[in-house]
Amino acid sequence: MRLTFISIILFFSFFTAFSQNPWIQPIVQSVKADTIFTTIADLQAMDRVTASNSPVPHDYLKQKLEAYGMDTVFYHYYKPNTPPNVVGIRYGTQNPAEYWLMGGHYDAVLAGAGADDNASGTAAVLEMGRVLQDYEIKKSLILVLFSGEETGLWGSQAFADSAVNVINMAGMINLDMIAYSHNLEDSSVSACWKYFAGDLMQDFLTGVSLYVPGLKVDQDSTSGIINASDHASFWNHMIPALFLIENSDRWGGSFNPWYHQLSDTTGKGANSPWLAENITRAAITALLINIEPFSTISVPDEDLTASSMTFFPNPATTHITLQLPFNSEPVNITLFDRQGRMVINENDLRHGAQLDISFFPKGVYVVQLVSGKQAATGKLVKL
Ligand SMILES: [Zn+2]
Repeated sequence: MRLTFISIILFFSFFTAFSQNPWIQPIVQSVKADTIFTTIADLQAMDRVTASNSPVPHDYLKQKLEAYGMDTVFYHYYKPNTPPNVVGIRYGTQNPAEYWLMGGHYDAVLAGAGADDNASGTAAVLEMGRVLQDYEIKKSLILVLFSGEETGLWGSQAFADSAVNVINMAGMINLDMIAYSHNLEDSSVSACWKYFAGDLMQDFLTGVSLYVPGLKVDQDSTSGIINASDHASFWNHMIPALFLIENSDRWGGSFNPWYHQLSDTTGKGANSPWLAENITRAAITALLINIEPFSTISVPDEDLTASSMTFFPNPATTHITLQLPFNSEPVNITLFDRQGRMVINENDLRHGAQLDISFFPKGVYVVQLVSGKQAATGKLVKL
């Protein structure tokens, strides 16, 4: 039997639910500790209590969000003589009324430089804006930097209380203190959640296992710390929110010794670029799973030939052949066309397996290979 091109596409579309979004991996890979730590260094030099000296932190944050192409960026003033929240919105192309949020507080305590607490989480939120700037998203994204956290969650409470009446907030991730590792050895994050955030927690765990495999996750729904930051303002409205914080051996004597100190600076309070990068990647992945990024003008440019999982030839005309490491687990291969439509999805393939692409139109395709916890994305040129 020879299937026509159309019927093959219909056949494979049954597998869509199991496919992975090919854009997530390249976006997550482009999250870099360098940009995160540059932002931390910039912020730790600013007055983030009264914001009365120049440079003004909320101006800095607004300019960054604007530079990253957010559709709208504004100050949210909520209390006299208090610096504003800074809010950036990117609208989804398919379901713009569904909003996903990533947030962190940018204020600091009077006694501290606030690198880990919480220039680190602020930098992670900005990083999301940066890595997403060349992509479209199907659901809407709000990046929000809160003021007034250290004085009692003022900014997040004012934001959540007013936004809940206006928009549908489907989920929120709050990052507060993500750049300190005890003895530089702890590679864990605490993911604090409540029962109504179970789906987002599951997306977070899926994202970590696929895209941030070195990060250990410690689920926390009981400790004394779980209400201690801005996500709690969203929990008050039963909005599914996660709180991410460096695990530092689950605190005790290993809690950041520079917390709320003058020496909460890069190299001391914020000492682990690795941890900051990986917690940021994990948060971003969980949100990307939900807002569904895509691009119609570019394809991931990761070089698959540099991966241990690859295929040949490329460019190809009739067939491609899988090339896998010796003793590799079976792989799942997915091909997408430039419009993001899945055209092939096949599971349990071994080294040497061949795929017939002779009936594909000429052009560029995105190829994603997944094997166990390994994933690789690249492009195939069909001649
Ligand atoms: Zn904090």
